[in-house]
Amino acid sequence: MDVVIRVEKLTKQFGAAPVLRGIDCAIHASEVVCVIGPSGSGKSTFLRCLNGLEDASGGTVLVNNVSVHDPKTNIDALRAEIGMVFQRFNLFPHKTVLENITLAPSKVRKLTDAQARARASELLLKVGLLEKIDAYPNQLSGGQQQRVAIARALAMQPRIMLFDEPTSALDPEMVGEVLAVMQALAEEGMTMVVVTHEMGFARQVADRVLFLDEGLVVEQGTPTELFDSPKEERTRKFLSKVL
Ligand code: ADP
Ligand code: MG
Repeated sequence: MDVVIRVEKLTKQFGAAPVLRGIDCAIHASEVVCVIGPSGSGKSTFLRCLNGLEDASGGTVLVNNVSVHDPKTNIDALRAEIGMVFQRFNLFPHKTVLENITLAPSKVRKLTDAQARARASELLLKVGLLEKIDAYPNQLSGGQQQRVAIARALAMQPRIMLFDEPTSALDPEMVGEVLAVMQALAEEGMTMVVVTHEMGFARQVADRVLFLDEGLVVEQGTPTELFDSPKEERTRKFLSKVL
């Protein structure tokens, strides 16, 4: 299988505090990798290093064989390949759903208005929100806003999608609709790295689960391996709290 993201000896410190302490991993085309671990273990920092939102202190991240942290790399071009969805939906509040989705692709991908609207419609259909195309974010529920955020990320036609706890800020009854959209995306073959506390989703959708603790991948495996027979004491301890 093609390696889409290769991480080698990735370290990151903020001041004197080490946050990532040497992460190695390879993510393959169409793979869904869920990252779990305690709060403060470095999950968000790891994800942000993958698309260069965060500098690395050491080591390398290659995305499609391009070095993310090499100053010679065209980071904007690289980021266009990588969609990201955050815990907070951060849609532009004064723009409609259509405008939120089309703003970036119209600029970067040089689409005409008609092309952009057609693509937005397609994406909204996919996330089940076509009827909201002219609504404003504050007219939508949290779950709907997060689905728009996913559609917006997809509008750039990324080859990789990163999710950082996309359902953590949602009321419980809205979690399912967002996970369903993510699952559909996974089934279409999108390469995905998902930081999540939704262990049910990880078990059902992930090809591989990484357990991060104190800036290290303590253990990784298939969901069955990791959830049903964790090898490391730290993994067991964490799972006993969240399962
Ligand atoms: P997680 O997502 O697993 O909760 P984070 O990656 O957000 O963990 O944070 C890991 C550690 O790095 C935490 O101790 C956090 O306080 C610290 N940290 C994260 N971002 C910054 C920053 N910009 N400046 C200083 N410390 C940070
Ligand atoms: Mg985090």
